[in-house]
Amino acid sequence: MSDSISQNLQQLKSEISDNVTLVAVSKTKPNQAIMEAYTTGHRIFGENKVQEMTQKWEELPRDIQWHMIGHLQTNKVKYIAPYVSLIHSLDRVKLANEIDRQGARYRRVIDCLIQIKIAKEEEKYGFDPKGALIFLEHLRTKPMENINIRGVMGMATFTHDREQIKHEFSVLKSFFDQNKSAHNLEILSMGMSGDYPLALELGSNMIRVGSAIFGSRPAH
Ligand SMILES: *Cc1c(COP(=O)(O)O)cnc(C)c1O
Repeated sequence: MSDSISQNLQQLKSEISDNVTLVAVSKTKPNQAIMEAYTTGHRIFGENKVQEMTQKWEELPRDIQWHMIGHLQTNKVKYIAPYVSLIHSLDRVKLANEIDRQGARYRRVIDCLIQIKIAKEEEKYGFDPKGALIFLEHLRTKPMENINIRGVMGMATFTHDREQIKHEFSVLKSFFDQNKSAHNLEILSMGMSGDYPLALELGSNMIRVGSAIFGSRPAH
């Protein structure tokens, strides 16, 4: 890779409009790479593992906003509850209960996005749209004091089929549009390195970009 992290960031930021939030996905990348992005003024980073994110939070500047974007085990919420800035991966009611409980413990209201399953692939987590709606309605009658649902997140199928990705993003965008006023949703988190231009075309206002900034990760 010839381009530097700061050049990649600059390039990306010139492509996106001011109303779009860029989450720099730094999973598996060392502190030094994060600091290179930090020195350009970037403050929002996304991680998918609790232990890795917590270690980075401990070691790096305190004004970094850490976003949890990966599947979250209930018994690990307690480690991120003191500091996490936004949880993108609220994908089940049981997890919401635990985030609420840990939020209360740390006297915080924790911002969350409801993850909605839009991809065909079996292994992707999330509420189906109907389940997400039931959950939102439930919260309206019985609010959780220490959770603030700010919006929704989704991941498209990993495919080269643009029409399929477009269809999946449209499903999420419709859900967002249909429910934003009733439930105060402001954030639509969709789009990664491979599909963010399409996500932006379809109305995303938060993109989660890793490899296009930091370079590719080792395959797992
Ligand atoms: C890894 C990851 C990303 C970023 O992926 P890239 O293809 O490297 O941009 C975005 N969202 C989630 C949920 C991820 O796990």
